[in-house]
Amino acid sequence: MALVTLSEILKPARDGHYCVAAFDTSNNDMTLAILETAEALRSPVILMALCVDIEGDKMEYWLDGARKMASRASVPVCLHLDHATDTAFIKKAVDSGFTSVMYDGSVLPFAENVKNTREVTEYAHTHGVSVEAELGHVGDGIVGRSETDVKKNRDGTYDNPDDSLTNPDEMSAFIEETNVDALAVAVGTAHGVYVHEPRLHFDRLEQLNKLSSVPLVMHGGSGTPDEQVREAVRLGICKLNVFSEIIDAYYREMKKQLNEMENMAIWPSTANLRPLNALKEAVSKKIVLLGSDNRA
Ligand SMILES: [Zn+2]
Repeated sequence: MALVTLSEILKPARDGHYCVAAFDTSNNDMTLAILETAEALRSPVILMALCVDIEGDKMEYWLDGARKMASRASVPVCLHLDHATDTAFIKKAVDSGFTSVMYDGSVLPFAENVKNTREVTEYAHTHGVSVEAELGHVGDGIVGRSETDVKKNRDGTYDNPDDSLTNPDEMSAFIEETNVDALAVAVGTAHGVYVHEPRLHFDRLEQLNKLSSVPLVMHGGSGTPDEQVREAVRLGICKLNVFSEIIDAYYREMKKQLNEMENMAIWPSTANLRPLNALKEAVSKKIVLLGSDNRA
């Protein structure tokens, strides 16, 4: 059984100074492609579900497929619920078989974020499930994101303003009061597709990592230049969330292929072949960049 919690994957990463990629996956084809790539590279991996993909009965379907594939994998696999804000939904995810959940109260006032996160950790920990929370605000685009959305902050600017970065004093209090297992920090990345190159605040990240008793997480990993990602890993980022980059690779190849085709009546498995290979290549590049290959 290769199924593990987020803590079990991130502890060796923090000790070994590498980072584990966390990929959002919407269906079994994507899940299998990500797992096969991780296995080929002997890398631990985190498979994440987006709330929009697992509403209603779809949570069970997503989990049935992912749990089956993860249990057969020869590398450690964590099944993580990405960016959830509804505590009842998170409890259902815990009951249903996720090994890790994220509660995102980052837009709420500090006290409310603490209160809700603690409610989630208390429930999840009694079920042996890890919890990630977020403090400080990573730029927007996660809800109803489309290709035309850009990485803008709520005030319309493109760079994460300093006051939305994670505050070190708040962070220490937050971790102590919530008993969270991993923390997503805001240090200058944003969700979605960048219109301008991001500028990460490495001094802040270094300061946060020194103070933090838990592994730190970076969201908005897609499109952040490789050198900046490498430096962030060196300064303590143990989990990097990636979605836009792999789905972009998938659809670009799909578009190219469909444009070449006259006869559209082909098997979906045939149509998916090239796009899934493009996705695998993007997954592979990220795993190697983060240094988690040959760690499993
Ligand atoms: Zn995120």
